[in-house]
Amino acid sequence: MSQDYTKMWEKLGLNLEAHDALLSVLGKAYQDIYLAQKNRPQGMGYFDFVMSEVHGLRIKELLDEQAAGRKIIGAYCVFVPEEIALAAEATLVGLCSGADFAADEVEKLLPRNTCALIKSSFGFKLGKVCPYLECADMIVGENTCDGKKKSYETLNTLVKNLYVMDLPQKKSDEGKALLKSEYYRFKEAVEKLTGAAVTAESLRKSIETVNSKRKAIHRLARLRSASPAPISGLDALLANQVYFYDNPARFTDSVNKICDELEKRVENKVGVFPENTPRILLSGCPMAVPNWKLPWIIETSGAVIVGEESCVGERGTRNLTDDSGTTVDEMMEAIVERYFKVDCAIFTPNPDRLSHIAEMFETYKADGVIHYGLQFCQPYLMEAIPVEKALEAKNIPTLRIDTDYSMEDAGQLKTRVEAFVELLK
Ligand code: SF4
Ligand code: SF4
Repeated sequence: MSQDYTKMWEKLGLNLEAHDALLSVLGKAYQDIYLAQKNRPQGMGYFDFVMSEVHGLRIKELLDEQAAGRKIIGAYCVFVPEEIALAAEATLVGLCSGADFAADEVEKLLPRNTCALIKSSFGFKLGKVCPYLECADMIVGENTCDGKKKSYETLNTLVKNLYVMDLPQKKSDEGKALLKSEYYRFKEAVEKLTGAAVTAESLRKSIETVNSKRKAIHRLARLRSASPAPISGLDALLANQVYFYDNPARFTDSVNKICDELEKRVENKVGVFPENTPRILLSGCPMAVPNWKLPWIIETSGAVIVGEESCVGERGTRNLTDDSGTTVDEMMEAIVERYFKVDCAIFTPNPDRLSHIAEMFETYKADGVIHYGLQFCQPYLMEAIPVEKALEAKNIPTLRIDTDYSMEDAGQLKTRVEAFVELLK
């Protein structure tokens, strides 16, 4: 880190000792998983810097924004529309939930058989180690899976600023109407928080900002269809993870810079791994920072990941918000249309997700699909079985993995992944 942020963390009420321990584990994992990779694009230097400052400089920036009158909103799900937050002069950051923390304390409040993602969100709060959570003026929970919606009842007793957004479970007209009324309710809540009204001009600008971020990520994704793959899946995942908390304009520039570099790599047939390396499409639960276990296992087992069908990946970013509206209502309508397409497994039925996986398999010239489900995540684990069957019916080799955030099963996972990669060869 470029400077000593102890005072800032102390002021935020972090548990300094626990926080130091978290940073040291995070730093070591980053070193072993990320910095140990070969042939990385130079542009990844920016993301290395962002990660080294994830609890430092970025938090300072957010606190500076707060001091200048902006509000900070933390969110756990890609259904929380960044366009609305930005248009009402708030900054939206993703609350990562990608590592186990304070597990004993968490299990006093949540059943043991709760998914690692929900447990992590509680662990970061109970352990007082997340500066994003501590500096947020509003934390948005959403009624997606049963685990999340019930756990928010308890989270509400731990944080003073929880806002819960209701979400539909069906892609019906009634479902869309619910999403629309919830997005209007969210708009009002954010306007009340910031004291700034969403105007046609501010919404137009925010749609442009968020679309630019998505377009840069689309550009990066398209380049991964080249063979040899110009960037590792681990590095591309990192860009998708940083998407959630970096300054949007700076993020867009940095991803576009990497893309300029990758275009040259593609032209010169330069890759991160040799040309005949088996190509994997990863599909399933979102992988938040620092959940790098499975991608790391895959890419150290002789394969390369060429796409993520995930909310930290293409499920979250693939659609743009139509920017042709001229009034607030027209643009709100476009936002509803855009987010209603997200094919999260909480929807029933959810056929779009299967089509998207098959489409990504073709687009990124994958050789096989690895489905990643977090233990105790009913929506994705349930959906994994029909997804696997449907893919195999199309002769797409598929491996279904259920895991959590611990490293205990790393050896066993590696054996299974290596066998799958052998089969693809
Ligand atoms: S998987 Fe579903 S609940 Fe999770 S972030 Fe994505 S949309 Fe939200
Ligand atoms: S959708 Fe699955 S992974 Fe996400 S919070 Fe719910 S149970 Fe956990």
